Amino acid sequence: MQSKSEIAEFLRQRGIRLSLPKLEIAAHVFRQHRHFTAEEIFREINSEYPRVSRATVFNVLNAFVAHGLLRKVDVRSDAQVFDSNTSEHDHVVVAATGKIYDVTIPEKTRQLLLEQLWQQNPHLPRNPKASVIIHV
Ligand SMILES: [Zn+2]
Repeated sequence: MQSKSEIAEFLRQRGIRLSLPKLEIAAHVFRQHRHFTAEEIFREINSEYPRVSRATVFNVLNAFVAHGLLRKVDVRSDAQVFDSNTSEHDHVVVAATGKIYDVTIPEKTRQLLLEQLWQQNPHLPRNPKASVIIHV
């Protein structure tokens, strides 16, 4: 998806009513795969569209999550991170830079890892769909 008309069509096909802020926010988050916070998107858009508020950015991103176009990833304690890759995957976070990478841990390996984690830490909730986040 490169052009605004392609992005508009992408949103329309998923039942999202179009508005200028939504289209602008979508252009920033769907043109390429990325991980980002609402604040980062707000700053990017603010220089061009100062009338789009933080609350609007936050609400639109959450609406995209509700429509399955984005997912939230719990990789930071200080801010909610959104991910434009909605497929099942795991993450590696580089502590020195904060950069987040998508990684795929083979399903068998992941289940083994989670099983061992739960056996040694029975107080942890069991979530078979848990994704793995590794900080390096
Ligand atoms: Zn990701």
